[in-house]
Amino acid sequence: MIHPGFSALLDATRSLHATQTALRGFADWPDDLIPQEILPFHVPAADVMLADQALRCPEDFRQVLQAVLAAASVAVWRETYKDTSIGDDFMRRFGCYCLIGDGGAVISGKMAAYVVYMPAGLDYPWHHHPAEEVYFILAGQAEFQIEGQPAHVVQPGDAVFHASNVAHATRTTDQPMLALVFWRGDLATGPVLTYPKVLA
Ligand code: ZN
Repeated sequence: MIHPGFSALLDATRSLHATQTALRGFADWPDDLIPQEILPFHVPAADVMLADQALRCPEDFRQVLQAVLAAASVAVWRETYKDTSIGDDFMRRFGCYCLIGDGGAVISGKMAAYVVYMPAGLDYPWHHHPAEEVYFILAGQAEFQIEGQPAHVVQPGDAVFHASNVAHATRTTDQPMLALVFWRGDLATGPVLTYPKVLA
């Protein structure tokens, strides 16, 4: 059985996937989803997200945004960069939990899906991973940088593709950003920081 705190988010994400060509084109909705037991793990960024009054989204994404917030209290929040040089501020304020995959309510061999939250005024420095990735912006605004491309600002409804092992970085300024992030390919290898590159 799917964890009750996650079933609304899974349904809303599936509906979103069905209506967004960028997501449908990236990967089919997985047909191999298996529910799994999860033990909630809380981080300070979960509270930052739940208290963030500036997280606004278009009507189309309101249902999925509400489901993201509702699942926050039962999610297994990740500490991807815990033992790196990323710094305390990032560890306190950057939020990510898994929906499909390791630590998520369901697991698939074909796709992983995450919630990524960044409050206003946060730099997510250059990082990379072998999986191919799509960010789908639900709320807020952020500047994305991809190695070899000019930086661009994204809004709700925009999708950003990251190729395998190509470094990318994200920065918020006066607004937070909330995104659903989908992976295909190597789902087992996590992201690592791409030092010595720094945000321009
Ligand atoms: Zn990435």
